[in-house]
Amino acid sequence: MSSRVYNFSAGPATLPLPVLEQAREEFLAYPGAGASIMEISHRSKVFTAVIEEAQSNIKTLLGISDDYVVLFTPGGATMQFTMLAMNFLNGGTADYLHVGSWASKAVKDGARFGTTRIAWDGKPDGFKRMPADNELDLDSNAAYVHFTSNETIQGIQFQKEPDASGKPLFCDASSDFLCRPIDIDKYGLLYAGAQKNVGPSGTAVVILRKDMLDRIPENLPPLLDYKVMADNNSLYNTPSTFTIYIIALVTRWVLQEIGGLEKMEGINREKARMLYDVIDSSDGFYRGHAQPQSRSIMNVTFRVGTEEQEKMFIEQATAAGLDGLKGHRSVGGCRASIYNAMPAAGVEALRDFMLAFQRANG
Ligand SMILES: *Cc1c(COP(=O)(O)O)cnc(C)c1O
Repeated sequence: MSSRVYNFSAGPATLPLPVLEQAREEFLAYPGAGASIMEISHRSKVFTAVIEEAQSNIKTLLGISDDYVVLFTPGGATMQFTMLAMNFLNGGTADYLHVGSWASKAVKDGARFGTTRIAWDGKPDGFKRMPADNELDLDSNAAYVHFTSNETIQGIQFQKEPDASGKPLFCDASSDFLCRPIDIDKYGLLYAGAQKNVGPSGTAVVILRKDMLDRIPENLPPLLDYKVMADNNSLYNTPSTFTIYIIALVTRWVLQEIGGLEKMEGINREKARMLYDVIDSSDGFYRGHAQPQSRSIMNVTFRVGTEEQEKMFIEQATAAGLDGLKGHRSVGGCRASIYNAMPAAGVEALRDFMLAFQRANG
């Protein structure tokens, strides 16, 4: 078997090694099924236990009450940009915090179903920070307030939820889902594409407050109707069963091996600190994109020395087994995605590489 690199890819991203090992162990014959989890009915007893575990782990980790449903929807986070607007915008107006590249897409896709108003715009300043509550220009008629808790491409993160002034708060948490505890009762809707922090791509985890279901118009396409998804416990059609199985294993790992979200956050903060410390003490050789108070603990974005040196940095890092450090094509530079599953040893290896690279080239 070829050996594993430290994979800093933004997504699909590295998964916990113990999870991959367990999936390999169970790949041919899932316990009690005599077949792979991929080969059995999504309505079987065995799979029912799997989807129920995934839901119950997520509920336990985030302290979610029975006022909410936990759904698994097709089409990743991008489909949610459309689905949430179809269900809740419906010709009206909603406020969007335009904080980065993913927020842009949410604004654009939602606009097919009503007015997606920009309540704060970070674009003129190059998406370097998140807004404070007193900077938001909210509309009293807004059906909801949508924000992106962590902008994966720019590497900026809200330190706490924005104040939605009593409107339902909607959140794209794709790249920081389960990275820390949150106060879920503040949210009307929270969704996350699975492939950053909890599993393979193609599925979104959706947490929806049940009273929101009453606002949904009749006769939406069934797979894009949260009510249909909730009434059928995400099994209106055949969901991505393998993805849900991996989500069950990853959330079990966070719960049992890590010990919950407070522990997870502590580990994540320490990993992020290691890299930001190198940036801050590099005399400008490494230059962070995010303003310090908005720095992400999931995606660390930075530039290196000269254009030439930056290219060399990525090449040499890749050769040293530190993979996926090239920044998103839209912004360039470097990005180290250090999601829950990235071990501290991987971040230490990157830190040491950065220090050595600056000594050699700075
Ligand atoms: C990756 C990502 C998306 C898109 O996810 P898909 O599953 O590819 O649709 C949306 N929002 C954020 C914040 C992301 O990081």
